[in-house]
Amino acid sequence: PQLADRIAAGEVVERPASVLKELIENSLDAGARHIDVLIEGAGIELLEVQDDGIGIEAEDLPLALSRHATSKLYDDGELEQIHSFGFRGEALPAIASVARLEITSRAVGANAARHLRLAAGILEEDTPAARAPGTTVRVEDLFYNVPARRKFLKAPGTELGRIQKLWRQLALSAFPVDLRLQQGKRLLAQYPAALSEADQDARVAAILGEEFLRNALRFAQENNGWRLWGWLGLPSFNRPRADEQYFFVNGRAVQDAGLRHALRSAYADVLYQDRQPVAICYLELPSELVDVNVHPAKTEVRFREARQIHDFVRHTLAEIIADQAR
Ligand code: ADP
Ligand code: MG
Repeated sequence: PQLADRIAAGEVVERPASVLKELIENSLDAGARHIDVLIEGAGIELLEVQDDGIGIEAEDLPLALSRHATSKLYDDGELEQIHSFGFRGEALPAIASVARLEITSRAVGANAARHLRLAAGILEEDTPAARAPGTTVRVEDLFYNVPARRKFLKAPGTELGRIQKLWRQLALSAFPVDLRLQQGKRLLAQYPAALSEADQDARVAAILGEEFLRNALRFAQENNGWRLWGWLGLPSFNRPRADEQYFFVNGRAVQDAGLRHALRSAYADVLYQDRQPVAICYLELPSELVDVNVHPAKTEVRFREARQIHDFVRHTLAEIIADQAR
């Protein structure tokens, strides 16, 4: 295992939820329509992601596990306009370097799958396998060879909570994908592909509760190629909690203090109340206004024209709330 992989692992692979995020984003990048996740315990024992995406050509499979081998970026200019989730080619090698990893993949159009098994980044098995087109990645014993990191993990309940939070974010950002999450023999969540607005509402209800959907306003506004849509909890429903706000920028879940501020201010502007609204907001902007290349885990963004974007969100939401209050 390369030292660089272990260092990268420190940035990308903090905990089971961050491993799962990378694996699921790879499946989404591969155009999967079905993603099945299996975990054991809180994901430290096992995380397995199966998809029906385009798969990986047999001769490319070892490459997918070597550092900076990404199939998703071709020249520097393209860093400006990243549409796929992955682009650094460091997640898989980083994960492989701190766990036991198995990958089985069959490319669309290939007649067989290839299977690799690694321990702490070292190849231990390389065999043909049978599988429908798509990819399965299995990560066992996370951090078994890095006891310091393993100790740093929180109690299983906390790690599981983070997986569930990540899962809700992914489910809200990938409506067209059929998603299943299983813990051992227990089905934790299953969301069928949601293509129509009614299906999307049903998924939102499954994730945030029927009560939220009954007390939420679905909205969509567009101005000059900037688009904002989603669901806003009505004031009667809102509670003083900040962890029920979901923001997506160009399809990615993000944590952004500016967006949280814009949302909260919009309510305060209209209703003179200072509460944390429950909301799901999708912001779609021209990609040159959004820099996602801030942190390897990609939950932070940097906006060009941050002030204007903040004000666009604040004023758009305030108008919607004012309309509703009338
Ligand atoms: P990145 O996503 O940044 O390219 P990763 O280390 O996450 O880097 O993955 C390396 C490469 O492996 C990807 O570029 C892709 O070609 C391939 N790959 C990984 N997971 C999958 C998957 N589920 N389906 C198809 N290809 C995959
Ligand atoms: Mg990736």
